[in-house]
Amino acid sequence: MSLATHDASRTHGRGSIRHDRTRGEVRALFDLPFPELMFRAQTIHRQHFDPTEVQISTLLSIKTGGCPEDCAYCPQSARYHTGVQAEKLMSLEVVLAEARAAKSAGASRFCMGAAWRSPKYRDLDSVCAMVEAVKAMGLQTCATLGMLTDPQARRLKDAGLDYYNHNLDTSPEFYGRVITTRVYQDRLETLEHVRNAGIHVCCGGIVGMGETREDRVGMIAVLASLPAHPESVPINMLVRVSGTPLAEETALDPIEFVRTIAVARISMPRSMVRLSAGREDMSTETQALCFLAGANSIFYGPKLLTTSNPGRDRDRELMEKLGLIPME
Ligand code: SF4
Repeated sequence: MSLATHDASRTHGRGSIRHDRTRGEVRALFDLPFPELMFRAQTIHRQHFDPTEVQISTLLSIKTGGCPEDCAYCPQSARYHTGVQAEKLMSLEVVLAEARAAKSAGASRFCMGAAWRSPKYRDLDSVCAMVEAVKAMGLQTCATLGMLTDPQARRLKDAGLDYYNHNLDTSPEFYGRVITTRVYQDRLETLEHVRNAGIHVCCGGIVGMGETREDRVGMIAVLASLPAHPESVPINMLVRVSGTPLAEETALDPIEFVRTIAVARISMPRSMVRLSAGREDMSTETQALCFLAGANSIFYGPKLLTTSNPGRDRDRELMEKLGLIPME
């Protein structure tokens, strides 16, 4: 097959957004020679975004540890001995102080994460109060609280929630190897409730969990065939935390990670593709390639829930070195 026939989007017009990209098409993108893949990703990135702008989010764990779920990558599961202590839901005052600090450090979005299977109604009231107060500071709000029912999603929307994060994590085929306490369909249903409530969707996955390229193909094919592309697509590199079942997993080749970012960019042209967990262990060069492949969002701040993230100074240096600026 010639290079020109690999990407069917060429026949659908340059700016059109497709929701019918087949697995075969996504696979063909992954299989492109690296220079061709990067060229296509950059071309599409520049059609929709200023390639020098990077959206900055800050993530705060508002309720850490003690989660009943068994996600094999997660140090917050109560099933694994990772040294993460279960804590209560943070107070409103502490959350607001963190949000204020994030804003003054340049964040435009403040994400609040709670280690729950799904929120209890009482807890949801507390989170809604946080959402209202953070939004009143002029920050975009995001939450990740586990599975939501339709009324819970609507309640969060009424409180002013802008984004809800709920990752598909991996392909439907590989999902059961990573998590057994819920199924892929549960994830899709929560995403539907969030979308129906009118909240923007933040949804991506994790690579480097021992999945095959075909699983990475499957994950992106599902994301790109949702009724609306997620507004944010976080692509995480597994952080191998001691005590979790994936602690000894073989590291994914960085070029394969960059390929995943590029294929996500091409498949979801208008989404913010976020370089998420795993940056701490990535070289400057790998991160630079990710930005060239179309990543245009990062988490800023020394911690990502319970795992470490590059410090603010290191990120400032990285952005200066690459001539990148925070997106307003
Ligand atoms: S990823 Fe979320 S749902 Fe899974 S164990 Fe960790 S906190 Fe719980």
